[in-house]
Amino acid sequence: MPLSLFDLPQREPSSFIGFSGNRLDRQSEKRGDDAVDLALADPKARMMLISSGRLLLKLNGAGFDPHFGVSEIDGWGGDRAGAVLLGVDSVGPVLALASTIDIDSLPDGMKAIDFRSVYAQGLLDSERAGAMAQGISLVTWNATHKFCGRCGSETRAAAGGYKRVCPGCGAEHFPRTDPVAIMLAVSGDRCLLGRGRHFGAGMFSALAGFIEPGETIEDAVRRETLEESGIRLGRVAYHASQPWPFPHSLMIGCFGEALNEDIQADLTELEACRWFDREEVFLALEGKHPDGVFLPPRAAIAHHLIRAWAEAG
Ligand SMILES: [Zn+2]
Repeated sequence: MPLSLFDLPQREPSSFIGFSGNRLDRQSEKRGDDAVDLALADPKARMMLISSGRLLLKLNGAGFDPHFGVSEIDGWGGDRAGAVLLGVDSVGPVLALASTIDIDSLPDGMKAIDFRSVYAQGLLDSERAGAMAQGISLVTWNATHKFCGRCGSETRAAAGGYKRVCPGCGAEHFPRTDPVAIMLAVSGDRCLLGRGRHFGAGMFSALAGFIEPGETIEDAVRRETLEESGIRLGRVAYHASQPWPFPHSLMIGCFGEALNEDIQADLTELEACRWFDREEVFLALEGKHPDGVFLPPRAAIAHHLIRAWAEAG
């Protein structure tokens, strides 16, 4: 039987990773310049509110609710004209907005929790965590692109927050998504893991770096691995991707076939870099490594790259 282009596992590897569960209907073809106004006029519209790197959450029984009705946020919602339209779910439109609320004096029953904690502690279900990622990236991009990069005039948001238009020169600016390659170099029964200088004690992970303009994903994987570890890669295979809203990256996870094994780590970027055999990786995944080595949590794409390789052996 010939190999099919779509001869893939039933569930895409990306779908197991944090921030991948966003199921909002983005309706990207329907985003007119009045998209935010129309959405806000819908009595079923709900907002996700962002303030100083935190998401505002309502305590809701045992869990957290990230949605606020438009009427609920009178007085502290911020400039509604600056809202971005994330999409529509079975209830109605969902928007995201930079709130002006003072997070040190929140009303009872509300919390402002930093994005990484919301993600790492699994405070939202997969769909809402995915929508949060979309909201963080878009609100951040709008907040940091208020002036035209061509002529310096003040820009205005359009198309539901997916575009900024310059009244001075007519330029249109679009949201950024910055691609990052994250890769697991493998050599027979071993894989290459590194320790970044900012990692918690004992943690190792896959190497990663930004893809540069004019570069293919595969070339970026080979370049970054060589620069960081001295390991040359041959074949590169895509595995999965993960939206990473800090602030607007897309992690692209790949495997790379190592052509040499003598590591020459770039110790300005890495504190350590070494080969791990499969047995050692399983011990680290299970939290039983004798030296206390551990790997990124299940929400992280690195975890899935490493686990997928280990379990394929
Ligand atoms: Zn301009």
